[in-house]
Amino acid sequence: MSTMSYDDLPELNVVEKILELKKERNAVILAHNYQSPEIKFVADYVGDTLSLSMLAVEVEQPVVVVCGPDFMVETTKILASDKTVLYANGAAKCPMAAMITLEELRDLKKAHPKAKVVGYLNTSAECKCEMDICCTSSNAVRITKSLKAEEIIFVPDRNLGSYIKKHVPDKEMIIWPGFCAVHQIILKQDILELARAHPRAKIVVHPECTPDVVDMADAVLSTDGMVKYGANSEEREFIVATELELVNAMIEDNPDKAFYAVEKAYCRTQKKVKLGNVLEALETLQPEVRLPRDVIRRAKRPVERMLAVGRGD
Ligand code: SF4
Repeated sequence: MSTMSYDDLPELNVVEKILELKKERNAVILAHNYQSPEIKFVADYVGDTLSLSMLAVEVEQPVVVVCGPDFMVETTKILASDKTVLYANGAAKCPMAAMITLEELRDLKKAHPKAKVVGYLNTSAECKCEMDICCTSSNAVRITKSLKAEEIIFVPDRNLGSYIKKHVPDKEMIIWPGFCAVHQIILKQDILELARAHPRAKIVVHPECTPDVVDMADAVLSTDGMVKYGANSEEREFIVATELELVNAMIEDNPDKAFYAVEKAYCRTQKKVKLGNVLEALETLQPEVRLPRDVIRRAKRPVERMLAVGRGD
């Protein structure tokens, strides 16, 4: 939950209705780390895609409202398939997940029949059906190393793919040229300027950033990894190259430390989720994720294989 105060909320009556209806519907609200503070305020849990979708399986509530992009909502349904999983806003479609289609992935597999497919969790359910194993930004290197295959297809993020390639040089990597616009927009120049202004700050970078930015990092971490690092590190100052809202949350959670963000790294997709959408989802129990049973079964396999190797941080 956000540390935002109740009095700061812009739509107090909407918040009250959400909290009331959440109890009435016996629902749980999950919010991705990049959601806005008011969404985190009404959420029961805040985290990354994997941790929240795994939590959806464990919680007792039968209704799950997911405040995040489409791939996160689908991943939640894949894991918690017996629950009613609702999109807080079905229009929050991640552009990076849309950069590879089912047909493109099938063609890639045909062109490289010996390769194993490692796919980022940030992909559609139908693409997951074609993968050998999934990964997150925190376990991507470990997952790739765990495979016996010499040839690996990695989809869809070219920057995370480059990061893996650097750490797994013995494998031939076929990397799909997708990217996350939010991390791609962070330039080496932006980090250099922040480092000049804050020379003692540790540079913490998400592996979806471009290789020249990743090369400047003291630590390359996933979103949950960054949150832990910021809280547990003995250091006092950090330059954090990821989505702005995560950095704002780190500032709030660690008042005795300083965190510097690249202000333009703002995900419009994540911010499409508004309080009004959450309220409507609870009122109507729509839009519900509908995935064919067969898709759920096939998409779950690569996720389970990943969990068998290890989650990461
Ligand atoms: Fe997609 Fe990037 Fe936004 Fe995440 S931050 S939802 S990967 S565009």
